[in-house]
Order: sequence, then C-alpha cells, then structure tokens
Amino acid sequence: MNIFKQMESNVQCYANSFPVTFNRAQGAHLYTESGDQYLDFLAGAGSLNYGHNQPELKEALVDYIMQDGITHGLDMHTKAKAEFLDTLQSVIFKPRGLDFKVQFTGPTGANAVEAALKLARKVTGRTNIISFTNGFHGVTLGAVAATGNQHHRGGASIPLSGVTRMPYCGYYGYNADTLKMIDKQLSDPSSGIDAPAAFIVETVQGEGGLNVATNEWLQGLQALAKKHGALLIVDDIQAGCGRTGTFFSFEESGIKPDIVTLSKSLSGFGLPMAIVLLKPELDEWAPGEHNGTFRGNNHAFITATAALKQYWADQNFEQEIAQKSAIVREYFQTVADELGVTHARVKGRGMMQGIEFRNGEIADRVTASAFKKGLVIETAGNQGQIVKCFCPLTISKEDLTQGLDTLLEAIAEEFKTELKLAS
Ligand SMILES: *Cc1c(COP(=O)(O)O)cnc(C)c1O
Repeated sequence: MNIFKQMESNVQCYANSFPVTFNRAQGAHLYTESGDQYLDFLAGAGSLNYGHNQPELKEALVDYIMQDGITHGLDMHTKAKAEFLDTLQSVIFKPRGLDFKVQFTGPTGANAVEAALKLARKVTGRTNIISFTNGFHGVTLGAVAATGNQHHRGGASIPLSGVTRMPYCGYYGYNADTLKMIDKQLSDPSSGIDAPAAFIVETVQGEGGLNVATNEWLQGLQALAKKHGALLIVDDIQAGCGRTGTFFSFEESGIKPDIVTLSKSLSGFGLPMAIVLLKPELDEWAPGEHNGTFRGNNHAFITATAALKQYWADQNFEQEIAQKSAIVREYFQTVADELGVTHARVKGRGMMQGIEFRNGEIADRVTASAFKKGLVIETAGNQGQIVKCFCPLTISKEDLTQGLDTLLEAIAEEFKTELKLAS
C-alpha cells in the first residue's frame, strides 16, 4: 500500500485519474519520479495559465526570497502589495477604462466568492442570490449554495439556502430567451422569487461543461440586473486571466460588472491568491468585517506583478492566445465533423474548449487512454461528458499540436476510426 492510500483521505480526487507521482514540472510538462514526461492539459485546473515554473516569475520570486522580502503580511501594507496594486491599475484597469477597488480575501476562489456574495447582500439589504444552472462557484457553504453540481452540493449535508437558480444562456437551446423568462419571474410579485441582491455568473462555465454565454445575453443580464436593483457579479476565477483570450472574460461583451472575483491564475505561478474587484461606491465594508489570516501572500503578489508585466503590458499575448485557440478549434471541429454531431460536439471558446461526447464513460475512456499516451487531461460537464483542453496559454505550438494529436489518437481508438486534420 502506498503512502497516499495509507494516509490520505478518500476526499482526494485528481490522482485517481492520474495515478503516478509527479515531482518536477516546467512549462507545459510534468515529470514523474521515475522520469516519465507528460504534457499537462489540465494546468492546475486553470491555475497555471503561464505554465509551470515560468522562468521570469520564478526569478522574481527567488530574488525576493533571497532579499528576505516579507512572506506573510496579514493585510498590512507591504512594498510587494503596493507594486501589485500599481501594476493592476496601470496594466489592467486603466487601458480598459475600469475603476475598481480591490479586496484581498483568503487565498482560495471560494473565499472570494463568499466575500462577493456577502457584500452584495450587505449593500442591497436583500438575501436572495440568483445563480445559474451548471454554474460552479466553489464548495464552502455560501459558494456551494450558488453551485449547481449535485455531487458538491451533497457534500454540504445541510440545506443550502439564499440562492435561486435560473437557466443559463442556451440552457433550453439558444433560441429560447432565458432572460425573458427570468425577467417575467422577477417582475411578477407572486412568482415566489425574492428580489435578488445579485446575479452571479461565469461567462464560460468552467466546471459546468464549457457552456458559453453570448455577448448579447451578458449585455441583457447586465440590463436585467439594473432593472431589478440587483448587482452583477462575474465569477472570473477560471475564465479570467487570459483563458478566453482577453484578461477578463467579459471584455468582448463590453459589460462592466459591479463585482468581479479572480483567483486561480492570478498569481501566475500557482501560488494561492484571490481578490474581489468592486465598484468604489459598493465599498461598504467595515475594517476586518470579512477577513482571513492568509490575505497577504506576498510571494503571490510578487509573481502576480511579474505576470501582469510580462504578458499584459501589450497586445502580443492576446494575439498568441487567439492563434492557439484557432488551432484547438480546428482539431476539435475535425473530430466533430468526422464523428458527427450525435457523437461529438465542440464546446467553449478561446483556450477554454472541449469536446462533448454522448456520456461520461466515453469521455473517461478517452482521457484514460490519453494519459497512457503521456497527456494529462480532464473531463467537465454535468455528466463528466466533456473532455476539456486546458493547457497553459504559453504552451509552444509544437507542444500544443502534439498534445492535440495524442488526444485525436485516443478518440480515434475509442471510435475505432481514423481522425486526421484536413491540413
Ligand atoms: C475553481 C473555481 C472556484 C473555486 O475556487 P477554489 O480556489 O477552488 O475555492 C470558483 N469559481 C469558479 C468559476 C472556479 O472555476
């Protein structure tokens, strides 16, 4: 019996899919103890958008540690935090015409979501939060109440309250106007739906199956929130930090959310860090009202600052992501065309794409076979039926196509067919 089986709780999960012991990683590659190399198309579930041990980020962190820079600072002022805020302001907010205050929360995404929900309730004096079918917002009690996933909701073991679920964009097909349905329910005093403090939404549902909200739907949701006196929270924990092609996933839609949550790839190095962005007029917090010991992970501030400077100071990185997204699209479209729409459909956008199969068993066999061929890749969706390509955004085109070729091989085996790119 190995040490993990012997000591680690059954709650452990990812290693069931990837039963090896990793001990080194660089860029898009993971290496096991015995020296086997894997391509990483999971990338820390989207927390390693810039790859493992990105050299510039690593150097900034090592220099900082060697100078005895502050590691843990509660929420006290530090030079590292000042530089992060300065960079966030100049590199991200200013060019996008955004004006947000920044709340540092405990270092997990769920903590940022908790803070966002609390703030929305406090500011509006309402308790109800509207979240969407198949949304995922974390597994602490407040956040899991807003989460759709039955497995995660079941883990709460108490009734989850304060949230009303509404159909996401396209839930009844893209011809059904879900916003109109929601508007009618919120406008009817006897619909039984309490006036909401906020809507919380992912622009692309990361865990829920790479469902995409259209720009028009997001614009409509913003207008609907305004009409009903509710705030709009975009949970950009997974879709943000470049995953969809722009720093924030909602940039293309032109909406300006009242509150935004960020975590996963924010530190850029896989270090825990989370923030809530809030419109200045919403800042009704009293000092310490929402707190947390680990709100001052200064190592994360150092790498986050380095990542913003390295990748977001000009448009080059966005163009690079767009090119790679097109490559992924071409591969997945080929699969969908070859297998037919009843067997495979392309989901998602940007570097947040996947292939939906008929059920989770097929998707599991494909990912298991891909793993045997040296590719770490996971599934998502309400039945785990979507194979989700989540490689680092910085991956080389050679590694990207190699990984996609491996995936194609695994799919071809499953369907006992041949799959080749047209070009
Ligand atoms: C991962 C995720 C969370 C939760 O973040 P944790 O760090 O796991 O608590 C919340 N929202 C979205 C959209 C996520 O993808």
